[in-house]
Amino acid sequence: MAKTMTRTAKSKGESAKAEGEAGAMLDDIVQRAKVAFEERSLRFTQLREQVFSEIASTRGSIGAYEILDRLSEKGTRLAPISVYRSIDALIEAGVIHRLESKNSYFACRRHEHGRKGRPIFMACEQCGGVVEVPAQSIFDQVAELAKSADFTPKVKFMEVSGTCAACRDKAGSKGD
Ligand SMILES: [Zn+2]
Ligand SMILES: [Zn+2]
Repeated sequence: MAKTMTRTAKSKGESAKAEGEAGAMLDDIVQRAKVAFEERSLRFTQLREQVFSEIASTRGSIGAYEILDRLSEKGTRLAPISVYRSIDALIEAGVIHRLESKNSYFACRRHEHGRKGRPIFMACEQCGGVVEVPAQSIFDQVAELAKSADFTPKVKFMEVSGTCAACRDKAGSKGD
C-alpha cells in the first residue's frame, strides 16, 4: 500500500516536472521570438504572442482555424482575419514558417538561417514533426536551372515529406 502511494506520488511529481520543463522551453522560444521582432523593429503584440505560443507549443504544425479554436477555448474570441494578420507578421519576422502542403504553420527552431543558408523542410507524414535542414546549395541550383531556362523562380522554401526517425523506429518495433 505504502509502496503504491510512493510510486503514484513520484510519477505525479515527474509529470509536473516535465510540464514545467515544457513551459520553460516555450517561454524561451517566445522570448527569442520577441527579440526577432525587436531586431526587425516590428511590434510583438499580445495577439501575435498568443498566436505564436499556440504554434510553438504544437508538435508538428497547426492550421489557422485550429489556432482560432484553441484561443477561443482559452477565452480569446477572434475573427479569422486577425489570426491571419498575426500569422503574416510572424512569418515576416521569420519566427514561424508555412508548410505549403498542409496549409499549416510551425515555429522555427533554427536561428542561423542567415549563416547556414536557407533550409528545406522535412515534414513527417505520421506525426507532423518538421525538421529544417540547411540546403543553400539546392536553392542555388534551382536558381541556376531557372536562369538557364530563362525563368524567374519564386522559391522561398522547399518541402520534403516522409517519415521521421522516431516514427520509423516505432513502426519497426511494431513488426517485432
Ligand atoms: Zn526556420
Ligand atoms: Zn514522425
